[in-house]
Amino acid sequence: MTRPYTIRARCGVLVGGKSCRNPVSVGAVHCMRHRQFPEDAVNHPAHYGGEDNPYETIKVIEAWDLNFNLGNALKYISRAGKKDAAKAVEDLRKAKQYLDFEISRRSRG
Ligand SMILES: [Zn+2]
Repeated sequence: MTRPYTIRARCGVLVGGKSCRNPVSVGAVHCMRHRQFPEDAVNHPAHYGGEDNPYETIKVIEAWDLNFNLGNALKYISRAGKKDAAKAVEDLRKAKQYLDFEISRRSRG
């Protein structure tokens, strides 16, 4: 029996220049340790600073141990006006949306 989707067996997030080999559960993008990493920040595009930049977005997200919402907020702030100059305001709105998600999450209970 074949599955209708590809299972990515390994996480793939770069840590200290090495690709994370932790297993990924079905339906997840990264391993449990790196589950908060936004998928499109992982492949070192220039609008997130590039692989050689010590302040590359993905490295800052990891260094600050940000969760999914805050990681995405930082991602959209860092790329606003860089990935697509015409979408700078849209990127900032997305950052605000993720901040609102996090504020709601922390305000519950
Ligand atoms: Zn991992």
